[in-house]
Amino acid sequence: MADTAQLSALEAFLHGHPSIKYTPPSSPEYASARKVWNRARLDNPLAVVQPQSPSDIIAIIKFAKSNSVPFTFRSGGHNLEGRAVVEKALLIDLRALNAVTIASDRKTCTVQGGILQEELASKLWEEGLGTPTGAIPGVGYIGWATYGGYGPFSSQWGLGTDQILGATIIDPDGEIITADETLLQGIRGAGGLFGVIVDLTIKVYPLPSLLAGTILYDSTDITKTFVDFNGAYQNIFNSEGFPPQLTIQQMAVNAPPGRCFGVGFVWSGSDIDEGQRWSAKVAGLAPLLMNTVAVTTIPEWFASNGTMIPADISGSSATHNISRIPLPVAETIGRNLERMPIDPGTMFSIHQLRGPSVAPQGHSSVFATREPHYMLEFLAYVTKEGRKEESEEWAVQMAREIEQADPGNVLPAVYLSLYSSARAKSSDEVLKKAYGSNVEVVRGLKSKFDPDNVFRLTVPAME
Ligand SMILES: Cc1cc2nc3c(=O)[nH]c(=O)nc-3n(C[C@H](O)[C@H](O)[C@H](O)COP(=O)(O)OP(=O)(O)OC[C@H]3O[C@@H](n4cnc5c(N)ncnc54)[C@H](O)[C@@H]3O)c2cc1C
Repeated sequence: MADTAQLSALEAFLHGHPSIKYTPPSSPEYASARKVWNRARLDNPLAVVQPQSPSDIIAIIKFAKSNSVPFTFRSGGHNLEGRAVVEKALLIDLRALNAVTIASDRKTCTVQGGILQEELASKLWEEGLGTPTGAIPGVGYIGWATYGGYGPFSSQWGLGTDQILGATIIDPDGEIITADETLLQGIRGAGGLFGVIVDLTIKVYPLPSLLAGTILYDSTDITKTFVDFNGAYQNIFNSEGFPPQLTIQQMAVNAPPGRCFGVGFVWSGSDIDEGQRWSAKVAGLAPLLMNTVAVTTIPEWFASNGTMIPADISGSSATHNISRIPLPVAETIGRNLERMPIDPGTMFSIHQLRGPSVAPQGHSSVFATREPHYMLEFLAYVTKEGRKEESEEWAVQMAREIEQADPGNVLPAVYLSLYSSARAKSSDEVLKKAYGSNVEVVRGLKSKFDPDNVFRLTVPAME
């Protein structure tokens, strides 16, 4: 069907489903309705529809399938490549589905498929509860959790994907089903590959208090600061170790005073005095510039993190999982931070996988990299047009030099959410890189649950 014929068919269908919000290309709201975080994604969807209920989604999937209309989903719109919009595909915006229902035993909650991580965390906080999320408010929870979900609570409670106990999905036939354990294994790591996730049931934990903030170090000599910090960090890690309640995310940003190395500090334990002791200790790992760590609330903490990230950018990312940060690797990273292009969108960050994320108990997933490691994020994004290539070249070269500095240190599998599929030769290569030894499990689950590849434009793409 040509575009106009598809649009006419869509409009006839929507006539019978007035609850579904519709934004056609002719609407003045179309430009904002198609928006995703990565504005380099220039694709124009057929139209944008916003279902208000699971039955609206069922109707849309049945319509799209029977009319051969390709479609995508968007929750938070923060896929790093902007993959939620595809040229001429119907964009299904799930944001209206954002309810949270806490179980009476307060050990689990059910979250709808379009919720943002800040909305979820703030609703739980009102009840004295928490669950792993990332730190940036606008990122969709389902997109964050189902593909892995590294974040500041994972040292204590595990990755986002390891919180998933149940799921309701709409399958390729437009039927609503409760995921069995086989399908859940796939959802834990491959997210929307098998259907629309209407809701997830996840673990929640008591979270009565929060001590968090940013520690920035004097970065006049950023190589030395980075090397000294990592030397001292490794000494603590290898001797007494870091408590599970503490997560430290290393980062280099272009702050108002200039290029700067620091850490995001989150203490999710109830012993605030002990958390303060760790804050002082971490602040002492390199010459201090600024320490904002304080008792805070989840909404305040998210709001403050949100100010550090530009509202939209263009560019791409690269990533490595590495086993260790020995001196030659630290020196290589430090030297590359010295030449990090100056744009608020260009950043570098390190998440550490340790604690319960290494060996989750009681359920299976297709998430590939379970050995202890550091997940490196090379964020080659820019706010100003015309500087994208410089940042992307910086990220690719830095990734290459890290590999050369310590061959054997780079693990074979990568984190899908940070991986640039545009640089891969095929979707098959992306799958192999993302799922490593689990790739055949992913393929088997896809053949079982979506044999006709109805959900072919979701993340990850599968030919
Ligand atoms: C600023 C920023 C910070 C980030 N920080 C972290 C971090 O700290 N840790 C980390 O692990 N990752 C992080 N990420 C990566 C992020 O978790 C992923 O890109 C995530 O998939 C984004 O989800 P979204 O809903 O916002 O994206 P969208 O672009 O809306 O969705 C991406 C894809 O997810 C799938 N999807 C989403 N919801 C559903 C659903 N309900 N059913 C079926 N499929 C669905 C669809 O295929 C969709 O196309 C960050 C990304 C950004 C841009």
